[in-house]
Amino acid sequence: MSGGPGEPASWIGLSAATTVVGVIGHPVAHSLSPLLHNAAFEALGIDWVSVGFPVLPGALAPALAGMRALGVRGLSVTMPHKEGAWRLVDRRTAVADRLEAVNCVTNEAGTLTGTSTDGAGLLDALATRLSFDPAGKRCLVVGGGGAGRAVVAALRDAGAVEIVVVNRTPSGAARAVALAGGIGRRGVPADADHADLVVNATPIGMAGTTTGEAPPLIDADRLHPGQAVVDLVYHPRPTAWLKAAGARGAATMDGLAMLVHQAAHQLVLWTGQEPSLEAMWRALDRAEPR
Ligand code: NAP
Repeated sequence: MSGGPGEPASWIGLSAATTVVGVIGHPVAHSLSPLLHNAAFEALGIDWVSVGFPVLPGALAPALAGMRALGVRGLSVTMPHKEGAWRLVDRRTAVADRLEAVNCVTNEAGTLTGTSTDGAGLLDALATRLSFDPAGKRCLVVGGGGAGRAVVAALRDAGAVEIVVVNRTPSGAARAVALAGGIGRRGVPADADHADLVVNATPIGMAGTTTGEAPPLIDADRLHPGQAVVDLVYHPRPTAWLKAAGARGAATMDGLAMLVHQAAHQLVLWTGQEPSLEAMWRALDRAEPR
């Protein structure tokens, strides 16, 4: 058994027969995806391994050609390659085309299919961690980037009755609002007063980055009991904003739950088996104790 993060995955008899998956991005060394994947493989008892592949901007096409040539079964895709992967895969799911982004590539005999599991991961996380069903709810999404758009599309599909997008730039807001169909509009911070769900989908609050130090677009003083408040950022866990929301009485969830559930969807696509969420959470708790 592995003793912890960073140690060799000694439960896997790595060999010429081992199936390889991984995560591509730049930088990628910080990614928690291999930790989650390998915990799931161990629990399933299968001879698979997940690793990080640092892929520089501009090197995505040869990286995907390498995936085909080497028979890498699946790749999780992170910054800055989500939109490029959408352009370069052989087949795309409907959700990938709506978002014009791919966070998961599956290799079937050399044919690469791209999809996005972020939205499904968020909905599963809301259900399991907060018992929150977006159907009939008023939602406010802060951020109109790739994550914000995935959240807006998922909330719309899940039956939200209103989706307000608060974003720094009008163009980013408009792109996200377009995914909400007739129930979306660009909003202002005061709209948070009446929202059932507030989601931060910006990097504001993330430790170790200058963007992380920017002031939140929604002041935590606006948040209150009866609301569900989600921060997609999970470093730190919780962010100061999420902690303040909890102190104001809101039900809160950090970004790690979405990360776990979106990874679970990817693992099903690659292995055809349901991964153990418990094993994945245990691995995270060993790596990132609260
Ligand atoms: P992205 O495409 O680069 O979008 C960034 C968003 O943040 C944009 O809406 C941008 O607004 C806004 N923003 C950036 N800096 C800002 C600032 N200083 N002030 C105000 N707004 C600012 O990034 P992304 O892929 O959407 O990711 C957003 C966050 O979600 C990241 O922290 C990422 O790690 C996290 N995430 C978490 C998960 C998970 O599973 N938990 C999944 C995906 C993403 P403009 O449009 O005005 O530039």
